[in-house]
Amino acid sequence: MSGHRHPESVSGQEVREASVPMSEGPSQLSSRRKSRPVWVGDVQIGGDALVVVQTMTNTDTADANATIEQIAPLADLGAEIVRLAVPDRQAAAALPDIIRRSPVPLIADIHFDHRLALEAIRAGIHGLRLNPGNIRDAAKVSQVVQAAKERGIPIRVGVNEGSLPPLPTLAGGELPPPKAQRMVDAALWEIGLLEEMGFQDIKISLKAFDVPTMVTAYREMARRVPYPFHLGVTEAGTPGAGSIRSAVGIGILLAEGIGDTIRVSLAADPTEEMPVAWEILKSLNLRQRGVTLVACPTCGRIEVDLIPLVNQVEAHFQRLGKPITVAVMGCVVNGPGEARDADVGLAAGKGKGAIFRKGEVVRVVSEEEFLSALIAEGQKVIAEKFGEAQADDLGTAIKLIPMEPHQRPGRAVRHLAP
Ligand code: SF4
Repeated sequence: MSGHRHPESVSGQEVREASVPMSEGPSQLSSRRKSRPVWVGDVQIGGDALVVVQTMTNTDTADANATIEQIAPLADLGAEIVRLAVPDRQAAAALPDIIRRSPVPLIADIHFDHRLALEAIRAGIHGLRLNPGNIRDAAKVSQVVQAAKERGIPIRVGVNEGSLPPLPTLAGGELPPPKAQRMVDAALWEIGLLEEMGFQDIKISLKAFDVPTMVTAYREMARRVPYPFHLGVTEAGTPGAGSIRSAVGIGILLAEGIGDTIRVSLAADPTEEMPVAWEILKSLNLRQRGVTLVACPTCGRIEVDLIPLVNQVEAHFQRLGKPITVAVMGCVVNGPGEARDADVGLAAGKGKGAIFRKGEVVRVVSEEEFLSALIAEGQKVIAEKFGEAQADDLGTAIKLIPMEPHQRPGRAVRHLAP
């Protein structure tokens, strides 16, 4: 389905814009595994859809207002689907209100009690996540499947290494199967139940904290079934370590063409998950959202205080929300060449710098103009790429944030060792 759409935020207003077709993007490591598509509301997962970004709220779902207040900024940051825990009847009772007010499709996360899944379906939920580790009664699963089938909503078979079904009794000396195999087996058990009922709107996740375990499990499952995969490293940790762990686990699989939707799980506010998820997809040229910033790491050649300038540039272009590549480099000699693929860039030298496009210098500006000149040139790029009308709209969004004196480039020159 090529009409898959995703939210982008432009100057505080949410707009919906067709995703960049994969064929227009730059290089990719491997072709995507072709999975059987499912639909969560109006969002396609699998098939020829782009990889979808999702996250999960951490409010008390029973508090509909608090939950909606958390979903709205997540959608602005690029969450295309949001999942909610539904741990009890109070949470299930709040679902109709939340679903009615949500800007994106919602998935109910159900453990233990299949009646909550039935209530969520009745409330109009767009998808379910069931854990085969804790709803083991085939008759109860069947009731849920029948209801999901009638409403045409998909079910994620969500296996988590921390809540696997109990091991069968092992014969003396027999070793338990590896964790990845146990995860695959747990998923296959539930997939079998669903398939026996003629139900195929299935998604699968096989999440583990241990990256080799989750990678092995997904690779194995990719050989076994045609269903789309929700990728994630579970309980990945704090934003620093957890982002890296998630990027490695999710990134390995995406680089192999495996994976249809991702969730980065961090011990942080869910808004912190969104930029990480998008950077993973941007790094692999699978999606584009907002600015991609190229910034040199700085070295002994630098003669300006680059980092505050980088942060200012990122803040401005992030706010515009257009998928262009902007470079901020620390010297005129190497900067334009090192960032030759950037749509627009600045090579900042002492007292003056060069504005360049695709590696070619287009003008030289004084250091007081670094930020304003780069923004102006960036707007020209946006006008060329996306049309004058959109660039005009963005014009009203561009307001220079004055730099504090200590942030101005050139004020804190790094002195080079002789
Ligand atoms: Fe060093 Fe210049 Fe490269 Fe930045 S662009 S890392 S200052 S050589």
